[in-house]
Amino acid sequence: MAKVTGIDIYKLLPKTNCGDCNFPTCMAFAMQVAAKKAALDQCPHVSAEAQSALGDAQAPPMLTVTIGAGEHELAVGGETVLFRHEEKFHHPTGVAIRISAGADDAEIDARLDAIAKLHFTRVGEEIGVNLVAIDGEGVDAARFGSVVEKVHGKTDLPLILLSADAGNLEAALNGAAASHPLIGPATDANWEAIAEIAGEKKLPILVRADSLEKLGELAEGLKGKGIENLVLQPDAEDLIGTLTQLTLLRRLSLEKVFRPLGYPTLAVAAGSSSEADSVAAGAAVCRYAGIVITDETDPERILPILTVRQNVYTDPTVPNAIEAKLYEIGSPGPDAPVILTTNFALTYFTVAGEVENSKVSAYITVVDTEGLGVLNAYADDKFTAESVVKTVQAQGAMDKVNHNKLIIPGLVAVLRMEIQEESGWEVIVGPEDAAGIPTFLRTEWSA
Ligand code: SF4
Repeated sequence: MAKVTGIDIYKLLPKTNCGDCNFPTCMAFAMQVAAKKAALDQCPHVSAEAQSALGDAQAPPMLTVTIGAGEHELAVGGETVLFRHEEKFHHPTGVAIRISAGADDAEIDARLDAIAKLHFTRVGEEIGVNLVAIDGEGVDAARFGSVVEKVHGKTDLPLILLSADAGNLEAALNGAAASHPLIGPATDANWEAIAEIAGEKKLPILVRADSLEKLGELAEGLKGKGIENLVLQPDAEDLIGTLTQLTLLRRLSLEKVFRPLGYPTLAVAAGSSSEADSVAAGAAVCRYAGIVITDETDPERILPILTVRQNVYTDPTVPNAIEAKLYEIGSPGPDAPVILTTNFALTYFTVAGEVENSKVSAYITVVDTEGLGVLNAYADDKFTAESVVKTVQAQGAMDKVNHNKLIIPGLVAVLRMEIQEESGWEVIVGPEDAAGIPTFLRTEWSA
């Protein structure tokens, strides 16, 4: 389908510039609709003829697909831009851990226990794995069904049921259909049978093919049967091939608005060494995968994948800031150090983490720099001697201790004298890098 331009949309609007859509003019609104940043129904005056003439133009270029039910339900896809800085990415990649139904029960239990522990706190945010993929290859319907039932009973995470055998999938769904799993893969050989099972229960389908042409063909076939909740898996031979196809898929769906490929994607990062799989999963996150499946359960292999995801999916339009206030680390007493930093979340949590590592209880007094780090805030006049003194006084840090020493970040050592003169406190220059805080507190700090 040819891309609908802002001018095409403008021609069908009332052209009264009434502003009821919260845009100043019909043209401005049309441009935002064309860019998928506004929906046509935000104009209350748009005619039914225009609605129908624009048809798919108002539909998002990539469908959002929901997997699972309840608290842990996961939405993937629904993206609107190729690059995060153009707007933001909406739905972080779902990280799935694969369990083989052919493994013995003790191994499956051990993997489920390990999966339950794959949750971390990073930069003040809870992050963790999102799905469990149960691979039914090489087992019969009875075994696949019993493993799915067992996993479903032991985890709240959404499920992906993997089997090319539609009969096995149907058996497995007996105990788990209400959990709204993603099922598949639908391929050239089985897509009609899988469509029948998924259609009845309105389940999302994983579609797998070794070319984008075939993926589009299968997606169109499934759509023709009334099934639109699809996740596409390009079946490439190696990591380079997978990343290339994921990138092409994203470009075709968002830049060309090519509807047959306008769905979230899935990549499997498994089968190599533990390190290589972890790297492959991180690369797939960076290259737009909606879901990544891995066999890894070691925290040290999963945390880097989740960290990449957290970095890629942070909203660049919202300052990553924490509340500017006085924080206590440990149980600080009157001799505790008072450490100054900014309210950029990454800076604060890095400093707080290193203070915890030092085992020295401390106060951290946080200046509101509108989410900027130390040097950026200093360069932008948001971290000045005046703002520092006002903040520390307002937060009452010095009232809690029996000394008058303030530790400032080494990166703004230039502010030391100014803060000292303005406040009368003894200003100590701390390390430039937060990694130096434990040594500094243990060896150089004394009240
Ligand atoms: S509400 Fe409709 S008619 Fe009014 S300015 Fe917006 S697009 Fe134009």
